[in-house]
Formats: sequence, structure tokens, C-alpha cells
Amino acid sequence: MRSLRDLFAKLPADGVLRHALRQFNLAPGRLGKAVSVRELAESLGLDVYQVELPKGMAGRLVSDPFSDSGYAIEVNRQHSVLSRRYTVLHEIGHFLLHADVTDPLADAMLLSRSDDEFYFNQSQEWEANNVADVLLFGDGALAAAVSLHRGDVKKLAKYFGVTENMIRVAMRKFECS
Ligand SMILES: [Zn+2]
Repeated sequence: MRSLRDLFAKLPADGVLRHALRQFNLAPGRLGKAVSVRELAESLGLDVYQVELPKGMAGRLVSDPFSDSGYAIEVNRQHSVLSRRYTVLHEIGHFLLHADVTDPLADAMLLSRSDDEFYFNQSQEWEANNVADVLLFGDGALAAAVSLHRGDVKKLAKYFGVTENMIRVAMRKFECS
């Protein structure tokens, strides 16, 4: 998956959903400040909670009958704001691709971003990261920012609200370096 088109091909034909995802992708550094991932999550009906989680677990998607979508995202409050931002996007990836949204009362899922081994499905983890990367950097978003900031990794990290290392990885992945 390398573009919003690739992502949309996996999603229901929902104009509101696509609009929200496209708007996020179009305006990463609006007004000199990275766009809120919480706003994106909430526009998809996902509440976001900062909670205590095991040290190695960045976040997880849990069922939540009180949210509009039936799901909520929990992020590890101990992690850095940059890590938490990426985690929210990763969990949105799980929500879009892996959650059975027809059954919001299903058992709480553990679709987490974690460096622990208790993860069962590595390909789902990889897909969720891909969604996060495409939302942030896809459809020319990274290429345009690299050009604007002349490849300055520090400025790019601030612009997208991610770590400098994530920028370096994304520049290789999207062939912008
Ligand atoms: Zn995950």
C-alpha cells in the first residue's frame, strides 16, 4: 500500500470517511503545527484515551460501546507525544482494515503497537503501519514537504509531528531522499 487510492480500495465506499482521511493527508503542517491525530480519530468515531499500559505497549484498539464507532484507541501515557501521535494513526489503520465494525460488542481486541512478542499477527501490524505512513506521507505529501524544507530532517519531523528517525525511514520508503 503506497497511496490513499490503495487504502481506499480496501475500504467501503464511504465519502465521509474518505474525505476525513484525505483532508488529514493534504494538510499535515497547517499553520506551522502538525495536525491533530485526535481530531482525525474523533472524526472517524473513535475516542482516544491516554492510559497506563505495559511499558512495551504503545497502544491498542479496544471495543467501546459508548463511542460512535464502537471502538476506542488507548495510548500509553508514558510514551512521548510523537510516539503517541504515530500510535493513534497505527490504531486507525487497525480500525479501518482489521476491526469487525459490524460487531462492536465483540471482545476487546488487542491490536496494539508494541515491541512485545504477544502479537499474533505480524502482517496486520505491518499493514497498520502502512496506513499510518500513507496517511502522513503518501500521495506526494512527503515529497512536497521535502522540497519545501530542502530535505531538512529536523524541520520535516516537526512539520509531520513524528520522530526524525520516522522521517528518515519514510524518505527511503517513499523514495524522497
Ligand atoms: Zn498494531
